[in-house]
Amino acid sequence: MNARQEELRRRLIALGFDEVRFARVEAVPAEDLRHWLAWGFNADMAWMERTAAKRLDPGLVLPGVRSVIALGVNYWPGREAGGLGPASPRWARYALYEDYHDTLRPALVAAGRMLEELYGAAGADYRYYADTGPVLERGWAERAGSGFLGKNGMLISRQFGNWLLLATILTRVEFEADAPLRRQSGEAKTESRIGLLCGKCTRCQEACPTEAIPSPGLVDARRCISYQTIENKGIIPRELRPGIGRYIYGCDICLEVCPWNRFAREGRRMLLAARDGIAALSLKEILELTPARFAEVFRRTPIKRLKLPGLLRNACVVAGNVATGAGAGHESVAPLTRLAAQATPMVRVHAVWAVHRITGAAAPQLLAAARGKETDPAVLAEYAEWPAETGATGAAHSSAG
Ligand code: SF4
Ligand code: SF4
Repeated sequence: MNARQEELRRRLIALGFDEVRFARVEAVPAEDLRHWLAWGFNADMAWMERTAAKRLDPGLVLPGVRSVIALGVNYWPGREAGGLGPASPRWARYALYEDYHDTLRPALVAAGRMLEELYGAAGADYRYYADTGPVLERGWAERAGSGFLGKNGMLISRQFGNWLLLATILTRVEFEADAPLRRQSGEAKTESRIGLLCGKCTRCQEACPTEAIPSPGLVDARRCISYQTIENKGIIPRELRPGIGRYIYGCDICLEVCPWNRFAREGRRMLLAARDGIAALSLKEILELTPARFAEVFRRTPIKRLKLPGLLRNACVVAGNVATGAGAGHESVAPLTRLAAQATPMVRVHAVWAVHRITGAAAPQLLAAARGKETDPAVLAEYAEWPAETGATGAAHSSAG
C-alpha cells in the first residue's frame, strides 16, 4: 500500500471516521439486489427501483469512476440506549443522535478537500454520500473489507459489530484495493457472500418479531418494524402491530442479538451529536406532545421527518402493546382517548386500537364521544374490528392484532 494512500487513510481516521477502506470499481454481483427488488421486498419504496441501474453501475453516477472509499462511523454508545424501564419506548440507536446525514457532511466535504490536496483531484472527480445517494453502500463496504453482509442484511464489522454508519466516496482517483474479508477456514464454500462469517448462527432471523427475514440477508421491508415505523406514512397493518412491541422508531432487534457485537466498543462520536433527552421521554409525554414541543425536542434529528402524526401513530401502537389488558385506569388511556378524537385519521385508527387493547370491554364507553363523531372509513373500520356487543377484551384480540 503506498504512502500517500496511507496518509489519506490516517487523515480520515483523525477526522472521525472509524473505518476507512478502499475498493476498485468493477462489476458488482447484482443478484441480491435484483432478487430483493423482484420479490417486492422494498414495499412501496419505489425510489429503490428507480435508482437500481445507478446502484448497480457507479459509472452512471460518476462517469470515469475508478475507486470507492468506504467509510464507517462507530455509533455504539457503550450502554443501553433508552427504553430502560419495561414500558419505556425504544428507539433505533442511530436515532438518538442528530441526523447523521447532516453531521457527517462537513467531514465528507473535508475528505473531498484531502483528495484535492493529496491527489490533485478536481471537485468533479469525486462524489460523496451518506445513505443519501444511488450507491450500494453496504455492498461496497463489504467489497472493501469493512465487514461482511450478515444474515440480518447489515454490514457487520469484526471491530465494531453491527454499529457502523456508512458513508461512501466515489472517485476517479485510482486506489489500491483493500482485501474483502475471507471465509473462516473449515466453513463450507457457497457462492453467496451473505452470512460469510455467520456460520450456523440464525439468531437474527429467529429473533425478528415480525418474521421479516425469510431467508439469509433478505429483509422483507413490508414486515419490518423499521419500515413500518419510519417509511410507512399510513396505517400500520393490524397483524404487525403486536410484534412492534416497544419500538417507537426503527428497530434494532436483529442487530443487537448478533454475537459479533461482542467486539463493539464505545464510539469516539467525533462526527455525531448525542441527543440523550429523547430516550428519557416517557410514553405518556410522547402521547401528549404538542406540535411546538415536537419541533423543539426532535429538531435536527431523523425523527423530525416522521412528523408529529407519525410519531403519535407509533406511540399508540407501543401503548397498546405495553399496557395490553391494563384497564381504564392506565396512564395512557386519557391521552389515547383524546388522540382518538384528534385531527388525523391515521392517528385516530391507532388510538382506537390501543384503547381497545388496554381497556377491553370498557373501550366502547371511553370512546363513545369520538365514535359518535367519526366519519372516516378507515377509523370506522378499526372500530368494526372490536365488536362491542361481545364484550371482547384486548387480550382476546392480541393474537389477531
Ligand atoms: Fe425484524 Fe426488526 Fe430486523 Fe426489521 S429491524 S428485520 S423487524 S428484527
Ligand atoms: Fe449472522 Fe448470527 Fe449475526 Fe445474524 S445474528 S448476522 S446469523 S452472526
